[in-house]
Amino acid sequence: MIEGQGLVKSFDGFHALDGLTLTTPKGSVYGLVGPNGAGKSTFIRHLVGIYRQDMGELFVDGEPVYENPSVKAKIAYIPDDIFFYTQASILDMARFVQSQYPSFDMKRYEKLSELFGLDEKRPMRKLSKGQQKQAAFQIAMAQCPELIVLDEPVDGLDPVMRRQVWSVLLQDVEQYGTTVLVSSHNLRELEDVCDHVGIMNHGKMLIERSLSELQENLVKLQLAYPDGGTLPEGLEIVHDSSTGRLRQLILRGTAAELTEKIAATQPLFLDVVPLSLEEIFIYELGGANYEVKDLVI
Ligand code: ADP
Ligand code: MG
Repeated sequence: MIEGQGLVKSFDGFHALDGLTLTTPKGSVYGLVGPNGAGKSTFIRHLVGIYRQDMGELFVDGEPVYENPSVKAKIAYIPDDIFFYTQASILDMARFVQSQYPSFDMKRYEKLSELFGLDEKRPMRKLSKGQQKQAAFQIAMAQCPELIVLDEPVDGLDPVMRRQVWSVLLQDVEQYGTTVLVSSHNLRELEDVCDHVGIMNHGKMLIERSLSELQENLVKLQLAYPDGGTLPEGLEIVHDSSTGRLRQLILRGTAAELTEKIAATQPLFLDVVPLSLEEIFIYELGGANYEVKDLVI
């Protein structure tokens, strides 16, 4: 759905994007993670057609976005700072978006409005930051987009509302194959919802993987050997620590293959433990000292 190749964008000689490459399959929930200043919002502004890159290529559904109304019509965008006309109520903004996007579905908007329970006559400017995000979200979803782009969407949302937003989003992904691209400076926030993750820093992609790829490549095991017991030969160990007799290993390989191999050496105890996304990235990037450690807080 999204194909970015070698994207460069400079502001007064500063490269906010510095050769960024990114691929988002259709129907995926793609988490774009990186510290503040990494270039996430800059990339997103290219993705929705606000900026044009200095170099490189960017396609949505095989077409460039910039000044391309037919592609833009498929995209809904919730920026980090929500736009609204000063005097506008939620309903006014919904009608405005309806006038711009032929796919806007007023019935759907009303349903979403009911779900979120905001008074749609209220002026946008009188809402809290979190409520403004909710309002923007219900309007964006009523647009029935093929691609929805959310820049730091959970900022200001309470946990209940956050769950509500994600449940609506994931339902659309399931039902209509909607593609979601969501940015955050917090990897943990995206852990439960994304099936693809890209980590960027300094305008570049550090690592981009699907969750299943990631989970196949690294396995965390807890085990204990009786005296004299040892691990089999030929394991690719990326992390090894012990607490008393209990040993924690992170190994390259698949869970099935590794447990079989290790079980053959007759440990007292052997268990596969789920890896957090954070751990996966730290080890994938070649060690805990790598800068990703600072990216995931
Ligand atoms: P993120 O969203 O990942 O926090 P941004 O994309 O907002 O990062 O910013 C990336 C870098 O580009 C920052 O150093 C920021 O100061 C710079 N930048 C972004 N937009 C502009 C702009 N319009 N003019 C000048 N510098 C900008
Ligand atoms: Mg940003």
